[in-house]
Amino acid sequence: MTNKAAAVMSPGYPFHLVCPRCKGEVKLGERSLDCGCCRASFDIRDGIPDLIVGGRFEDEENAELFAHEEATCTFTTENYIAPLLERLFAGYARTPRVLSLGCGLGTDVDLLREAGYDVAGIDCGNRSTAWKRRLHKDRLYLANGMYLPFEDQTFDLVYCGCVFPHVGVEGDTNRVLPDYAEQRSRIAREMRRVLKTGGHVMVSSPNRLFPFDLFHGRSPGKQMWPRWNPPSSPFLLSASDYRSMFEKAGCGAGTLLPTDNYWGFLRRNQSLAGKLTALPVKMAFSLSSRPLGKILRGSPMLPWLVMQFRRLEGGA
Ligand SMILES: [Zn+2]
Repeated sequence: MTNKAAAVMSPGYPFHLVCPRCKGEVKLGERSLDCGCCRASFDIRDGIPDLIVGGRFEDEENAELFAHEEATCTFTTENYIAPLLERLFAGYARTPRVLSLGCGLGTDVDLLREAGYDVAGIDCGNRSTAWKRRLHKDRLYLANGMYLPFEDQTFDLVYCGCVFPHVGVEGDTNRVLPDYAEQRSRIAREMRRVLKTGGHVMVSSPNRLFPFDLFHGRSPGKQMWPRWNPPSSPFLLSASDYRSMFEKAGCGAGTLLPTDNYWGFLRRNQSLAGKLTALPVKMAFSLSSRPLGKILRGSPMLPWLVMQFRRLEGGA
């Protein structure tokens, strides 16, 4: 290939990007993507388009935390997400298109791309400095879940881990804002919009009905005491919260998936106290994957939720 040909082909992104604000066509400029409809202009820095509309999520960042996130995300992708994708798309005629919403460091995007999926990842946080070392940078976009920069009916699966509780809250806290329900519904509608008819949504986060939040508010090295979580607190979501949101958005009745193998309990495995506190949770997760343990899923006995929805026929 001559240099001239490379110059013409290289600026493209593997996904057809649209204006996150008005969904109009965007044109690739020198260092920006420019909307021909609403005239919005979005910067491209280090090859990464910044398509964020609205707020950014600024949470804690340090090398130790990032190393832990990388290890945790690798575990979940290899032991939960990849096997789920294999089941969902067995016998699929074409390469499934997958969106990781809130992909953080982008670990899962690299792993799923290497596994052969046509994957994209978006995040509106402060993890994108780590994207420079990713193998598949062209598949990472700074964007907000409420304003996705993709065309309608692009993906076969859109998934997110613990994104919804952090939407409609004050910074990185568990204090919700007055319009938190509308903000979360807006993401659900956007997830449905970019899904092909019959495509899948997978969401996961701590279960609001479980009396403790075992998954938030711990920095590396700090004692891992669970936070008391009154089930009436709107920070976390329950299975019925997700159901009403996604059904209103135009998805079918959701199913609760097993929680086994979602978490590796990597940090807790480093100490005896950690191992002991993780044991009952591990046992409950393992039970949730068996036919008789199905009743545990989404119940106040299980601290983590994983749900799957499908986009129904019809609609815009
Ligand atoms: Zn626009």
